[in-house]
Amino acid sequence: MPATSRTKHIAVIGAGAVGVCCGLYLRRDGHAVTVIDEQEPGEGASKGNAGIIATNMCLPVATPQVLRRVPWMLLDREAALRIRWRYLPRLLPWLARFVLAARPSAVERIAHELGGLLGLALDSYTLIAEAAGAADLFRRQGWLHVYEDAAAFRAQRHHIELQRRCGVRAEPIEGAALREREPALSPGLPGGYFFPDCAHTVDPHLLVRRLAEAFVRGGGRLVRGRVDGFDLGADGVRALRASADVGAVDTVIIAAGAWSRPLAKSAGFNVPLDTERGYHLMLPRPGIALQGPLICGGLDFGITPMRHGIRLAGTVELAGLDAPPDPNRSLMLYRLARRILPRLSDEGATQWMGFRPSIPDSKPVIGRGRRGGNVHLAFGHGHLGITLAAITGRLVADQVAGRPTPIDLAPFAPDRFGAG
Ligand SMILES: Cc1cc2nc3c(=O)[nH]c(=O)nc-3n(C[C@H](O)[C@H](O)[C@H](O)COP(=O)(O)OP(=O)(O)OC[C@H]3O[C@@H](n4cnc5c(N)ncnc54)[C@H](O)[C@@H]3O)c2cc1C
Repeated sequence: MPATSRTKHIAVIGAGAVGVCCGLYLRRDGHAVTVIDEQEPGEGASKGNAGIIATNMCLPVATPQVLRRVPWMLLDREAALRIRWRYLPRLLPWLARFVLAARPSAVERIAHELGGLLGLALDSYTLIAEAAGAADLFRRQGWLHVYEDAAAFRAQRHHIELQRRCGVRAEPIEGAALREREPALSPGLPGGYFFPDCAHTVDPHLLVRRLAEAFVRGGGRLVRGRVDGFDLGADGVRALRASADVGAVDTVIIAAGAWSRPLAKSAGFNVPLDTERGYHLMLPRPGIALQGPLICGGLDFGITPMRHGIRLAGTVELAGLDAPPDPNRSLMLYRLARRILPRLSDEGATQWMGFRPSIPDSKPVIGRGRRGGNVHLAFGHGHLGITLAAITGRLVADQVAGRPTPIDLAPFAPDRFGAG
C-alpha cells in the first residue's frame, strides 16, 4: 500500500512478538508498514518462553531480597541465576545499574510504573488477537505461585502488599487448599498465592506466527533480511542498511529484542541492553494434567500447560549473546519441577534456549525520547515481552500518530539513562 500524505512508510525491525504487534497496530492506522527480520516471525525469544501473560509481575527483577540471595545462588549450579564468569567484565556496567534498581525506593517506583503498563496488557491483546483469529490461543485461568518452604511463603507477603498497592489481585492459599486447586502438587507445601487476572497462551510461537499472518493479510509487508544500520539525513533515518531492499522510510521502529543495542546506537541511543538467557524443557507426555500455569517461588521458572504438553521455562543465565547453550540448564528444570509435581514425566522432552532482552531496571524502552526524531525504540521487555508485546505496539502507534498515550511514557523513555 503506497503511503498517502497522512500515512507514513514505517519499517519495523524484528518480527518477534513485539515487532509484529507494532506492525499490526501501525497498520490499523493505515500506515504502509514493512516488518523486516533475518528469520521467520517468532523465531527469537518469543518462540519458547513460558507463555504467561504475567499481569501481576510489576516488581523489578532486582529487589533487596534477590540481591541477598545472589551470593548463594552463584555457589549453587542449579540455582535460578547463573553468571558465566568470562562474561563478567562486559556485564559489570549493566550489573551496577541492576543493583541500583534494587533500592527500596526504586523498587516501589518501578512497580507502580510497570503496573500501569501491565494493567493495559490483556485488553491490548484482545483488540488484535480477535481480529487475527488468535483468540483461541489464550486461556484466562490465572496463575498459581507456590512455595516449598514456609519461611519463603511468609517472606513473600511484603511483595504481595506492594503488588496490591499497584492494583494486582492476589488470593492467599494455605496448606491443603493448594491441592484442592491443583491436585498434581505434592502434599505438604505450605502455601501460595493465586493471581486470578493472569492468563497464558498455549503456544507463544504459533501466536506470533498467526499475528504475523494477519499483519500480511491486512496489507502489511513482511521482508526477510538483516538490518545492519541506517542511512541518516538531516531529519533522522532515511533508509535502512539491510540485506533486503525496504526503500525509503519515514519512520523506523527498532524491535529487534536482545539484538537491538547496536541498531539503537547507530540511531543515536545508548541503551544499557543485555540479555538474560533462559531455558525451557518441553514435556510432550507429562503424565499429569494441570488446572493452569504454576510457578514455584525459589525455583523461579514457569510450569505452563500448553497445546503440546507441559513447558518448564525460565531461569536466568548472564552469559551474553555468543556463548553456546548449556544443556544442563534445561535438564535441571525437570529435576527441580519434580520436587513439587512428583508424578511429572520427562518422556520425549525437548530443550530450548532463548535470549531475553533485558534492561537493568526491568522496564522496556518504548518511544523516541525527548529529542523527537523518526526512530522509535520498542525493546528490552526482559521477562515480560509476551505479556507486554500488544500494549507496546499500541503505545508506539499512538506516539507515531501524535495521539495522547493512555499512560505516561516518560518512565519508559529511551534516554532515561542520561545518554543519547
Ligand atoms: C525461558 C524464557 C521464559 C519466558 N517466559 C515469559 C513469560 O512467561 N511471559 C512473558 O511475558 N515473557 C516471557 N519471556 C520473555 C519473552 O520471551 C521476551 O521478552 C520476548 O519474547 C521478547 O520479544 P521481542 O519481540 O522483543 O524479541 P524476539 O522474540 O527475540 O524477536 C527479536 C527478533 O529480531 C530479529 N532480529 C534481531 N536482530 C536483527 C537484525 N539486525 N535485522 C533483522 N532482524 C533482527 C530476530 O531474528 C528476532 O526474530 C521468557 C523468556 C525466556 C527466555
